[in-house]
Amino acid sequence: MTTIASAILPDGVQTPHYDRQQLKTRMVHFGFGAFHRAHQALLTDRVLNAQGGDWGICEISLFSGDTLMSQLRAQDNLYTVLEKGAHGNQAIIVGAVNECLNAKLDSLATIIEKFCEPQVAIVSLTITEKGYCIDPATGTLDLTNPRIIHDLQAPDEPLSAPGILVEALSRRQARGLAPFSVLSCDNIPDNGHVVKNAVLGMAEKRSPALASWIREYVSFPATMVDRIVPAATEESLAEITRELGVADPCAISCEPFIQWVIEDNFVAGRPAWEAAGVQMVSDVRPWEEMKLRMLNGSHSFLAYLGYLSGFQHINECMQDSAFREAAYRLMMNEQAPTLSITGVDLTGYAQSLIERFANPALKHKTWQIAMDGSQKLPQRMLAGIRLHLARESAWPLLALGVAGWMRYVSGIDDAGSTIDVRDPLSDKISSIVAASHEDQRVVALLSLQEVFGNDLPHNPAFVQAIETAWQRIAQRGAHQAVIDTLKN
Ligand code: NAD
Repeated sequence: MTTIASAILPDGVQTPHYDRQQLKTRMVHFGFGAFHRAHQALLTDRVLNAQGGDWGICEISLFSGDTLMSQLRAQDNLYTVLEKGAHGNQAIIVGAVNECLNAKLDSLATIIEKFCEPQVAIVSLTITEKGYCIDPATGTLDLTNPRIIHDLQAPDEPLSAPGILVEALSRRQARGLAPFSVLSCDNIPDNGHVVKNAVLGMAEKRSPALASWIREYVSFPATMVDRIVPAATEESLAEITRELGVADPCAISCEPFIQWVIEDNFVAGRPAWEAAGVQMVSDVRPWEEMKLRMLNGSHSFLAYLGYLSGFQHINECMQDSAFREAAYRLMMNEQAPTLSITGVDLTGYAQSLIERFANPALKHKTWQIAMDGSQKLPQRMLAGIRLHLARESAWPLLALGVAGWMRYVSGIDDAGSTIDVRDPLSDKISSIVAASHEDQRVVALLSLQEVFGNDLPHNPAFVQAIETAWQRIAQRGAHQAVIDTLKN
């Protein structure tokens, strides 16, 4: 069968022009999802194109992805990224992946041993918030998580990402091998600390000596990642087939914009990512805060209010003047004043975000962004709200965003259709929704301590603002609520 590895591709398609035979597994990556393919792997491919080298990636998928991995192997671990701008497309064949392993296709033992190869310098992750098995309320390893319970009972047959990392590090320590750096590329605040807490939480339970070895020798650089990469659809894959003249089931489309800011703290070396435009810095936090509040905060706002109003995609929301204005004002009036970053043109940043959201070539589903809201709301909206409450400044659009999430997880959109709510807390949320009358829903959902903490539900100004926003949506619908909020 002809694949992208064997086909003659059209002239404009960029292909690897380095020697792929030189690649070794220097990085092992958990989570061959949409984002990693169009971000870390692509930027590593750019470095390889610029200066060659041996920084290959072994892709690991634990629970699913066996079909994808089989398809990737069938095309020599090559795959396509289609960058889609308002003014045209660029197809890039990425060659940085040199092997892939999947728990269904390969044994777990093979997977764990891959992390123990001496040349492995970095283990990176894009496994979404829930993959870290962290209790959001405490920021520590969730010892009630069934996978964590399992991994503590059977440490040499781990099922969770923290369990696998600790087992691999334990074997490296026992064999006298150098450690690796653990690089979280998930969009969660202080991702370096989150993964460090998960790993150390597991290691402490297994052996204090192992935990102190990890503390001393392993680094957990924090990162800020940015690129909009919608999940692949039949439509996006068909478009890529037309561009290439051959099908690539592992292909992914994304926007042209890309940004990666990394804390430069690696114990066993790293690719020269600067050569691909990556910013290597000593402190990622101000960058991450800027991105989480301005980009992700407004994205979530558009996702909840947009979905309730009947918009399927973010770019459709942006064609609506009220939504467009609300997104900009949310960024500039309510999120930018809460940031600690200096030396960045935040107006220019907000304008570029509006343009990126409006990109008609991207079909980013409001439903996709709305997913897992309980894990996202704290850093995207509630962190900024806490500052507004302390300063007594106004935050009407953030209030509408939080109330929009509450309406969304209540399960019915403004047209009366049922919403397929996906969230790690969905069982808890749906019992709260089922047990509460609409008039009591705000107070009932505020009892989710994992989301709202202990402070916000007891803050009268917070509760009142969310109640007001909830009533606005309940009485006039989400779209009119956005228009009304802009008038005040
Ligand atoms: P995706 O659904 O395509 O991929 C998620 C990957 O995580 C899959 O490979 C899946 O197998 C793995 N995974 C899920 N649960 C896991 C678990 N419990 N343990 C181990 N692995 C698990 O999603 P994506 O779009 O690639 O997003 C992945 C991460 O990238 C998210 O955290 C997101 O915040 C971040 N990110 C995504 C985008 C984007 O536009 N897609 C942009 C910036 C950051």
